[in-house]
Amino acid sequence: MAFTTDTHIHSLKFSGDAVSSMDEMCRGAMAKGLKRICFTEHVDFDPHYDDSIPFDAEKYKRAIEMARERYGGQLEILKGIEVGEAHIYPKEYEKVLQGDVYDVVIASVHYVILPMGIHWTGNDGKSIFQYAVDRIYCRYYEDLLAVARLGGFDVLGHFDYPKRYLKRDAAEDALIAEILDRVVKNGSVIEINTSPLRKGCAETSPGKKILEMYKDVGGQRLTVGSDAHRDVDIAAGFDSAFKLTEGFTAGYFKNRKFCTLTER
Ligand SMILES: [Zn+2]
Ligand SMILES: [Zn+2]
Repeated sequence: MAFTTDTHIHSLKFSGDAVSSMDEMCRGAMAKGLKRICFTEHVDFDPHYDDSIPFDAEKYKRAIEMARERYGGQLEILKGIEVGEAHIYPKEYEKVLQGDVYDVVIASVHYVILPMGIHWTGNDGKSIFQYAVDRIYCRYYEDLLAVARLGGFDVLGHFDYPKRYLKRDAAEDALIAEILDRVVKNGSVIEINTSPLRKGCAETSPGKKILEMYKDVGGQRLTVGSDAHRDVDIAAGFDSAFKLTEGFTAGYFKNRKFCTLTER
């Protein structure tokens, strides 16, 4: 048994780092037997950040409508966004939340700024010393806490994101517990993001330990997404994710409301 809903995918033209078009993503999802997908295109406010491209809400709306016309009979297509660094751009974030209506809003942190102007993004993580790794994690979780405190989102994206690149864990349990507690108090959820499995990691983001900590602070609901940027990665790693959801309520968001998946 596995899930037939992928709650976190990107497409070309709307996410600067995506490879497959919206059409290809829809067809890829159907080929894998999925019933439902949720596009969660990047909304970034920092023009200097890696692959970011300006977000065009109108164009996105039209593209989703077109995809629904084409594939809506076989595939439910949800329209979400993944907002980056909301804590640095609270006004812009607020504006996006008040704008077009989305099925889901994922809030994520994709880079951290360290003292001396060191600007860490995932892409250059491999050659970093342990000292710097600790600093990155600490800063990352401080930023993630700031996002969690801001609230307004449905899902906190790829909880231990630096792991995807640094391949090590953080010693930041107190901060992690505080963020998870805030997420639960907000009424929002975390996701199991399977993308680290495709980048040589042994675990999803987050893995077992953080999921247990989530449960400890009363976290019950979660979503599962591949974070696919190309059609072949849709629903990748869902077997592992399915096992991890045992004891939790897995679901997806539609109209900003959590819907429970029947597969679990
Ligand atoms: Zn992301
Ligand atoms: Zn993503």
